[in-house]
Amino acid sequence: MYNEKIHASLMAALPRPRDMLIGGQWVQAQSGETIPVEDPATGQVITSIPAGDAADVDAAVRSARASFEAGVWRNLSGEKRAEVLWKFSELILENAAELSHLEVLDNGMPFAFANATMTTAVNGIRYHAGWCTKLYGQTTQMGEFNEFHSYSVMEPVGVVGLITPWNGPLAMACTKLAPALAAGCSVVLKPAEQTSLTALRLGELLIEAGMPEGVVNIVTGLGTAAGEALITHDDVNKISFTGSTATGKHIVRAASGNLKRVTLELGGKSPVFVFDDADLASAIPAAGMGIFANSGQVCYAGSRVYAQPGIYDRLVEGLSAFADRMKVGSGFDKDTMLGPLISRRQQERVQHYIDSGLTDGAELLYDGKSPAGDGYFMAPTIFGTDGLEARISREEIFGPVLTISRFESLDNIRRIGNATPYGLGAGIYTQNLSNAHKAARLLDAGNVWVNHYGRLDRSLPFGGFKQSGWGRENGTEGVKAFMEAKSVYVKM
Ligand code: NAP
Ligand code: MG
Repeated sequence: MYNEKIHASLMAALPRPRDMLIGGQWVQAQSGETIPVEDPATGQVITSIPAGDAADVDAAVRSARASFEAGVWRNLSGEKRAEVLWKFSELILENAAELSHLEVLDNGMPFAFANATMTTAVNGIRYHAGWCTKLYGQTTQMGEFNEFHSYSVMEPVGVVGLITPWNGPLAMACTKLAPALAAGCSVVLKPAEQTSLTALRLGELLIEAGMPEGVVNIVTGLGTAAGEALITHDDVNKISFTGSTATGKHIVRAASGNLKRVTLELGGKSPVFVFDDADLASAIPAAGMGIFANSGQVCYAGSRVYAQPGIYDRLVEGLSAFADRMKVGSGFDKDTMLGPLISRRQQERVQHYIDSGLTDGAELLYDGKSPAGDGYFMAPTIFGTDGLEARISREEIFGPVLTISRFESLDNIRRIGNATPYGLGAGIYTQNLSNAHKAARLLDAGNVWVNHYGRLDRSLPFGGFKQSGWGRENGTEGVKAFMEAKSVYVKM
């Protein structure tokens, strides 16, 4: 939990400009330029990060390539790679309190939530440490007896660019680092400009865990400079990206230069269906957290709820009461359930959507009061949107804004649920087992949650249908996405 000593020592150390990690060295940008880092709960600048650009990215890619060709990581035995990853997970646990403080300062999320993401990260790294010894191909029987010896092997794809967003900085960095490293790749991580602090600290822990020099490079900087240089670099074999659909589409175009592989985890507008027979006592808090957790800044947030008519009024009342109990404030306040949004820009963007809901004639069902001050706070808002084609129920807002409408029956679920270009998540609340499974089949979504929302496991593939992305993270699919299959045909 919150620790005054850790907080004080971080605040004393932070003002010194942060360095980024290239070729085993902690360096500033070659240009000398920096980017100020804000605490979103206060709007205060707490430190700066290097504004890496094409020159720094090129140095990082060269270092990753050199380490890959030298085989300092990819040629290690699976056991040795697993050992380093496991040690890395232990170091995250040992430093979880400090990392959580840093995450709250940088991103604003509630401290308990930050702490929970450490556990997620540790579990994910350990899951992938297990993969290090289980990545192999197949032998096949080809031709006549004793004519051929034929087999496939799985090889790391090469140098990979990992680009992460600001909504779950440490967890997202680990979600990409762990499978890429388990597969034997060398990487260049470009964290979001707003939230690079825990990623840089992870770089230190990786070195302490025994990661050979040059295998992990971390270049901070703007998406339009450092990010752009990475996605267009001809010596990068793959980009793994999480962020907005617009940037995802841009990456697809940029990747065509050398046809680098691309995995995309993008946005969503995930529907949640609450049937008349739902257990409201559990559905209300689950659906409430499904949209308001992390202040709605979650790609799979359940942002549009549909209720059957018999339960609609009670659901609105319950969700409003739930929202009303959610304290908005600094992530360091132990009662806080909604920290600030990431930036002034994001706060304005969310407010713009709320204004558009009012203009479009949506019914304001719950209007939370945001705390005053310089932080980028935003209290929950709930709109009723029955019969409206409002933007707020079609577009990703990425803030604590929920829309509720009515739906008649299972027959309408496919049309309503799949009505946006997205297909990331979906929720279903019902006591009827058969309806639950039928609804799950009707929805075009990579992840369907029944009678809860948002729980993930590393063993299952995570990703989206339609414009919510390309490919999957986690599970067998996730680690294989960092590999190439090679078939070998030996004439005996
Ligand atoms: P974004 O542009 O998609 O940012 C995600 C990552 O991509 C960041 O590291 C960003 O760098 C980088 N990036 C931006 N432009 C790039 C480029 N041309 N080449 C390579 N990398 C590039 O998202 P955002 O601007 O932070 O947020 C805008 C909206 O996206 C949000 O309001 C939200 O709706 C959505 N979003 C979705 C997710 C998700 O998990 N699905 C996450 C974040 C945001 P910089 O941040 O350093 O510029
Ligand atoms: Mg920040």
